[in-house]
Amino acid sequence: MKRILLEVFLAASLIAAGVFGWMNWNAGKANVAKLTELTAESESSVKKLLSAETEVKANAEELSTLKLKTQELDAVKAALASGETLKDLEAAYKKEKSLSAERLVGLGALRLLTKGSQDPATIEAFRKALVIADWGSRKKVICAAQIALAAAGEKVEVLGDCIPQADKAEQADKEKVGGSDKAANVDKGKDEHGAKPGEKHAVHWGYEGAMGPDRWGDEFPTCAKGKSQSPLNIKGPFEKAQFGVAPDYKPGQLKIINNGHTIQVNVPPGSKLRIDSKPFELLQFHFHRPSEEQIDGKPAAMVVHFVHKNEAGRLAVLGVLLKEGNENPGIKTLWANAPLTEGPEVEPDGVMFNPANLLPREYEFYSYEGSLTTPPCTEGVRFFILKAQVNITKEQVEQFPFKKNARPVQAQNGRAIAG
Ligand SMILES: [Zn+2]
Repeated sequence: MKRILLEVFLAASLIAAGVFGWMNWNAGKANVAKLTELTAESESSVKKLLSAETEVKANAEELSTLKLKTQELDAVKAALASGETLKDLEAAYKKEKSLSAERLVGLGALRLLTKGSQDPATIEAFRKALVIADWGSRKKVICAAQIALAAAGEKVEVLGDCIPQADKAEQADKEKVGGSDKAANVDKGKDEHGAKPGEKHAVHWGYEGAMGPDRWGDEFPTCAKGKSQSPLNIKGPFEKAQFGVAPDYKPGQLKIINNGHTIQVNVPPGSKLRIDSKPFELLQFHFHRPSEEQIDGKPAAMVVHFVHKNEAGRLAVLGVLLKEGNENPGIKTLWANAPLTEGPEVEPDGVMFNPANLLPREYEFYSYEGSLTTPPCTEGVRFFILKAQVNITKEQVEQFPFKKNARPVQAQNGRAIAG
């Protein structure tokens, strides 16, 4: 538990950037000085806590030091407890068009300090950070958020890469006993998420050569060792589908990003996919060229993946294959606004988009249990690939700024395909 606490406060150190940015913006406000003081205080507490940990490792007698540091932390907590400063900070954050994953984690950490781990908004901040963080460039943020959520008793599996070395043995023991939550909801919506412009990726991966799919397993073991990986070559025999899917997508302000791996549209809340009548929130959709899925060994020109998550954190991807034919008006709007090179999310003024514009009329599907198709290739993702395809012109395919961004089909390993 101590270790978890320390890891959470690693995340707290990320607050600093956010808070200082906010202070510049809000320079006139009277409580700035107070906030500065508190931030510095919490930062130094974090540092002290971390150094305390080293001491504890070296000498068990130093436990009393840690106790003292914990008391200091409690003092910071008490100082922030009124919630006024936090409210101000949140209001400032909300005014921004989009929050970075770091700021959300910082906000979550501040909330953790003031409101505790059971506060829904605390949990939401960490969850949101997970959703918008790109694995490659945001590993630290993702780990911080996962660890914080796990500490708050949320059903989140902390990825192996995030578990501090010392705790891994303990974790392995737990799994042997079979008591751990083998939650399928490991990393929400991290499939092709936005990387910050100009920022160096901590981990590189791509679709060709030394960074290509056959090397992903070097850094992300599940990509190589997983037994339920996506995409699949979809071929019979099929099992009968036991339920239906019904998209209920709504128009909203277009938010579109070129994250270096794909073009992705981040969807404002309110669009849902009902699977067997149960709602899954649409988080984002993105494209692959050619389609990752194959039907009887053949890919389509492209595919759009709609990524959804339910309240329990389960991921579901709805795939719509795009075949060469007439012009697709929805794609026309998207391509007209999509950045050609990697960069930040853009929100073109007054451009609304309804994801339903990319759907066919019929929702019959093939379905199977799969994984994210990008590192870390996390499993427990349900795929629904619609049988009906939609048109896109050859020119529109060629305008897509990625020549090839499709993972090859993976071994089926006895998985049933409904269809
Ligand atoms: Zn995808």
